Amino acid sequence: LPPAERVGFAIAGIGRLALEEVIPAFGETRMAKIAALVSGSPEKAGQVGQSLGLAPSSLYDYASFDRIADDPAVQVVYVITPNALHKDLVLRAARAGKHVLCEKPMAVSSAEAREMTEACAKAGVKLMVAYRSQFQKHHRALQDMMRSGALGAIRGIEAVNVQNQGDPRQWRLRKALAGGGSLPDIGLYCLNEARFLLGEEPVAVSARIHSPPGDPRFAEVEDSVAFTLQFPSGVIANCFTSYSAFKGQHLLVNGAEGWMRMDKAFAYRGQQLHHGVLQDGQEVQRTLTVAAGNQFADEIDHMAQCVRENRKPRTPGEEGVQDHVLMEAIYEAAASGRTVTL
Ligand code: NDP
Repeated sequence: LPPAERVGFAIAGIGRLALEEVIPAFGETRMAKIAALVSGSPEKAGQVGQSLGLAPSSLYDYASFDRIADDPAVQVVYVITPNALHKDLVLRAARAGKHVLCEKPMAVSSAEAREMTEACAKAGVKLMVAYRSQFQKHHRALQDMMRSGALGAIRGIEAVNVQNQGDPRQWRLRKALAGGGSLPDIGLYCLNEARFLLGEEPVAVSARIHSPPGDPRFAEVEDSVAFTLQFPSGVIANCFTSYSAFKGQHLLVNGAEGWMRMDKAFAYRGQQLHHGVLQDGQEVQRTLTVAAGNQFADEIDHMAQCVRENRKPRTPGEEGVQDHVLMEAIYEAAASGRTVTL
């Protein structure tokens, strides 16, 4: 679309994700443009704003943010601050009459996530949670394969998302700002993926948590979490996340007549999809070719399209609420050592 017809986004919080992925991804969108910045740092906002060709009147700080109500160039606020600060900006954006794209995890509790969803509904604005993998082409190809029946009845999913968090002072390790440790930050990808691929909701959850004693990184939040989800169809999803493991981001789906594996499943780029299926009693293995694109651009364009066509986003606030409900069940299961039924 020509710039004048594109949907205008305000980027709220110019941190690492915004600078390294989101802002550059706007260059690959078809329907969206950056119309404003919201930042606690006037220098950074000035610099980034200038590089994007934004007028100084399009730069807000957190105190002046509510004036965005009077900015017709902004239709969507994309919230990219630490998790515990999402709610305040989402509620204020809704009050200003702006649609909202909110980074994951949506909030720090299901109660907060519900409040955000209700506030947006009441204000008549759209709320989308930025579950980028659901817009990534390999993930959609995997979902299509599973639904086509090519793998036969699905039996199990294994999802792993681990990384090594270095700096013990970062906000991700502060419970008040992050809400939790590896689970809401990166384990969430495994959880959301299983629900996305299967299109059904877990009925039972069991879990184990371990944080190495004495490691200053895990004084407030958890390190490793293993959790198992049982779905009504009988599918079992086994997930593992950790903040102290070298690396690993894979996905494995096992069906009665085939399997699929995605390498680098939750990375920003570089996904690879392999499968093996039974054909005439023989296993045929293949690596699928999928034209990937930029998942951030596809996610942003989805929001822009929903605004233009007045449609509900595919990953609305309710989707974020459900993940928070399930993460609370995972913590409860780990603490009690019992299976939690939903
Ligand atoms: P950063 O710490 O790099 O950036 C967060 C930004 O939020 C800061 O730069 C700052 O921007 C703003 N901010 C406002 N108040 C505070 C505060 N009290 N402390 C720290 N920052 C503050 O974090 P990320 O960019 O890595 O993560 C931001 C959000 O994006 C999180 O919710 C995270 O879960 C999510 N995320 C999602 C990813 C994905 O793949 N979808 C990947 C990485 C993160 P300013 O100075 O402009 O005010």
